[in-house]
Amino acid sequence: MPELPEIETVRLQLAKVLPGKKIRKIEILKLKSFQGKKELAEGKEVIGVKRMAKVLLIDLAGDIDIAIHFKMTGQLVFEPAVQKSTKYEVPSAKGRIVGGHPTKDFTGELPSKHTRVIFRLDSGTLYFNDQRLFGWVMVNSEFKIQNLKFLQNLGPEPFDITGEEFEKLVSRSKRPIKLVLMDQTVISGVGNIYANDALWEAKVNPRRLANTLRGNQYKELYKSVLGVLREGIRYGGATAADAKYINLHGLGGHYQEHFRTYDREGEECLREDGGIIHKFSLGGRGTYFCPVCQR
Ligand SMILES: [Zn+2]
Repeated sequence: MPELPEIETVRLQLAKVLPGKKIRKIEILKLKSFQGKKELAEGKEVIGVKRMAKVLLIDLAGDIDIAIHFKMTGQLVFEPAVQKSTKYEVPSAKGRIVGGHPTKDFTGELPSKHTRVIFRLDSGTLYFNDQRLFGWVMVNSEFKIQNLKFLQNLGPEPFDITGEEFEKLVSRSKRPIKLVLMDQTVISGVGNIYANDALWEAKVNPRRLANTLRGNQYKELYKSVLGVLREGIRYGGATAADAKYINLHGLGGHYQEHFRTYDREGEECLREDGGIIHKFSLGGRGTYFCPVCQR
């Protein structure tokens, strides 16, 4: 599941190529993947690319937005217009911008059987692909999209609050700290990978109840959350282990090479005198921690 750094990475890349281009036509291949009125977007120019938590927003002229929620397996692929001289080349990763859940569709021929919505631009094509069909594309007025109930219910992003506000938000809860970090109504944008790694950085046991952290542990945890998210963005997000081949094409992120605990069950802690990374399930999600340094 793409997390905030993965969405922010694709936002940064699309923000370099989409503004100034016009949406010529929207083709809906799967009704379930689309909400709103495509006619509102057709003929409109892209002004910018924004993000609200894990929802990507393509801002169009006339206060119209295209919202894209990747959920489990959504992905975007932007394919630049084919140059005449390369028209007969085998489709490749060349010049593509990809983001979201990594699959062979990053490099394969498009549209594929997972393509749900196609945005034909005056130059290039944007594909929304989604294997498991939980993701969606919505076209509506900027006002309607920003007032969607689930966006209104989101807590602030860590980037938008201070350490004191972070402490106030998380210390209200008596649930395990990891579940609180991942509760999008408390703080938005921290998913499983980054919650695991931030807790290791701050030396906090994922099971610790959120109201029982001591001393400057809240401050340490806040810094760690910001640190791992920023690092995730710097490395272009994390590309899942089942898609390592993507890197052969220079696509996908590299944060997975910097995991602290995530996906490292049975391996040694990165700290000297640390323990062996344990894995257990907390709230149904794989939770990794070092029993020696995380208390
Ligand atoms: Zn350790």
